[in-house]
Amino acid sequence: MMRSLPALLVALACLAATLPLRAEARETLAITAARIFTTPGAPVIEDGVVVVEGDRIVAVGPRASISVPANARAIDAAGASVVAGFWNSHIHLTRPVLLTAAQQTDAALQNELQADFTRWGFTTVFDLASTSDIAAEVRNRIASGRVHGPRLLSVGDPFYPPNATPIYAREFYEAFGLPSAEITTVTEAAARADRQLAAGGDGLKLFTGSIVGGPREVAYMEAEAVRALTDVAHRHHRLAFAHPTDQAGLEVAVRNGVDVLAHAAPLMGEWSPDYARWVASTGAALIPTLALYEEAANPRTPAATAIQQTRAFAGAGGAVLFGTDAGFTDAFDTSAELRLLEQAVGWRGVLAALTTAPAARFGESETRGQVAEGYIADLVIVDGDPRDAIQALAIVRTVIRDGQVIYTRP
Ligand SMILES: [Zn+2]
Repeated sequence: MMRSLPALLVALACLAATLPLRAEARETLAITAARIFTTPGAPVIEDGVVVVEGDRIVAVGPRASISVPANARAIDAAGASVVAGFWNSHIHLTRPVLLTAAQQTDAALQNELQADFTRWGFTTVFDLASTSDIAAEVRNRIASGRVHGPRLLSVGDPFYPPNATPIYAREFYEAFGLPSAEITTVTEAAARADRQLAAGGDGLKLFTGSIVGGPREVAYMEAEAVRALTDVAHRHHRLAFAHPTDQAGLEVAVRNGVDVLAHAAPLMGEWSPDYARWVASTGAALIPTLALYEEAANPRTPAATAIQQTRAFAGAGGAVLFGTDAGFTDAFDTSAELRLLEQAVGWRGVLAALTTAPAARFGESETRGQVAEGYIADLVIVDGDPRDAIQALAIVRTVIRDGQVIYTRP
């Protein structure tokens, strides 16, 4: 069938508009003179070279052993460290610009994503509740190449227990006229979960312990609902996240198949080695969001307790993932989380939480999370050496995603 001429012209114009970015993505890059952390456990390569072609890392090693292609654009990283692209496994697309993404220009959207995520080294972010529509809009704009930003994974709309939208989220739902995310029956909840995942959702977020305030304080999701939702997630080969709040919220989550705890649970007090071993034995990973507890400074949820839980959990072999709850909190700077997480798991543990641990938990350890030949070229160049000062990981020079430079510090 013949397309009309105007439609063809529009199609050509669209193609032309995307060409410069596509061409840019095919550039060959050679990052030289860098200290390279290939994985958190491997010996550090001093004065190394990383070569990127297309979206892949094609060579990594000491400078003497790597031949740099003649056509490569050199990025001098003297004095800097190269690490794999960071994952922020707990964010929310809740900034006003992101909530109204469909009305925003590409430049406005890119600026917001840069300030919130890209400039902190994130090449993948996991939105643990916004709305499916907002997530799809932001994801499409990034994936199309029109907007530079991190790869976006999203759970879309969350699942709250009946009549239990968190007290801190109610105003937000009203202000933006968002649909209620409270479940009614198990059948209805499972059907919505199935729809969201079939439509491209990357996981499910369950508020197994929802902070509702008032005399109830915390409302829990019934075990039957948790089980039904995690079953739907697993049938779609996706993960279920839970907001635990306290012991009951944590236990109904991990006993019923939840894969990732989106927060520590300092409200319940310290974890004994046995308790930490039990939580780890369920296979659930933990995103402790330590800085959130420091920032909130609530005597009932001390950051020190969240740090202790994280240390005990990691000591028991549990997988710790880096996440800040950015979007819920306005603290986009990662310095505080880096500092507190290092107290719990050391610098190697922090680097793992940013790279290899999420890649493994989300089933991408063969392609992401390492600075290794054949891996997708998600890379961050930071000032200094994280072994000397973990804050180095917050001082970002350059961010490369899928082989394309998406951020250079001005
Ligand atoms: Zn959150």
